[in-house]
Amino acid sequence: MTDVKFQNKGLVPSPLAAEALRAKAVYGVPISVADGIDVILADNAKDYTGPGTNTYLVGHENLWIIDPGPDDAEHLDAVVAAVAGRQVSGILVTHNHLDHSPAATPLKELLQAPVYGFGGLPEEILHESDEDIDPHFVPDRALMGGETIGAGTWRLQVLHIPGHFPNHLCYWLPEAGIVFSGDHVMGWSTTVIVPPLGNLIDYLDSLDVIGRTGAERLMPSHGDPVDNAAARIEEIRAHRMMRQEQVEDCLHRGITEPVKIVAELYEGLTPRLLKAAEGCVAAHIELYEARRAQAERFELSSASPRIRHVFR
Ligand SMILES: [Zn+2]
Repeated sequence: MTDVKFQNKGLVPSPLAAEALRAKAVYGVPISVADGIDVILADNAKDYTGPGTNTYLVGHENLWIIDPGPDDAEHLDAVVAAVAGRQVSGILVTHNHLDHSPAATPLKELLQAPVYGFGGLPEEILHESDEDIDPHFVPDRALMGGETIGAGTWRLQVLHIPGHFPNHLCYWLPEAGIVFSGDHVMGWSTTVIVPPLGNLIDYLDSLDVIGRTGAERLMPSHGDPVDNAAARIEEIRAHRMMRQEQVEDCLHRGITEPVKIVAELYEGLTPRLLKAAEGCVAAHIELYEARRAQAERFELSSASPRIRHVFR
């Protein structure tokens, strides 16, 4: 189905937008996206990944590699060729979905560089989810957010950005005004937020964290760089709020099952994206319930004599 709604500003997961990116994609060669920043696109195009995963090389003499990508021989060769014998200070992973972290281990061996990341997730959490997770991911250097790594022009600040995934990190390069935004904020599509590992309250808070950096540009893990970071963040926030209203409207009309809400609100999705849309609707229902519980707590507490006294 070719509905213009699904090409609108990258605000719904769109097979058409992914297809358009694939049509112009150049795989396996470094492409400069800013001074000292090259991107090498991995050939792992899917509905979720658009044209594939962006692996960034950051720096001139000493490099950071951001998001090694899938463990694919051609991609590994392309990254090693682009490094061209330069020193690699670290391989930085945004999160351990299968399209981001599996190349970390082979690249570490090939380039003799440590792997940085938040760390994997406990086994019991992995079992709760059927997302495409790399279960073997263990960084050499664990990050929590708040650290600064490197120095000078290529100093990166680490931001912990849960919402799409609990161990998601973004990397802020203040000297260049760029945030490497992983899957959290992209230009061609919104991200997938599927409970229990995805969480919409965290997602919105994390948008604030990225926004507060004052970054001018975003370099996402999929799709083209985003040139007006603040505008894109606000656009995505407004879209999520609009979707929240739509989902709450369905709930008030007695339509409560995610699959039925998806049928009301989305069209033109592939089966895989339909499943993702169901997950996103579940995240909106979670937010609705959290707000309701908070409102009830407030009503209870404001009815207590002590609180009434304070407000009198
Ligand atoms: Zn992801």
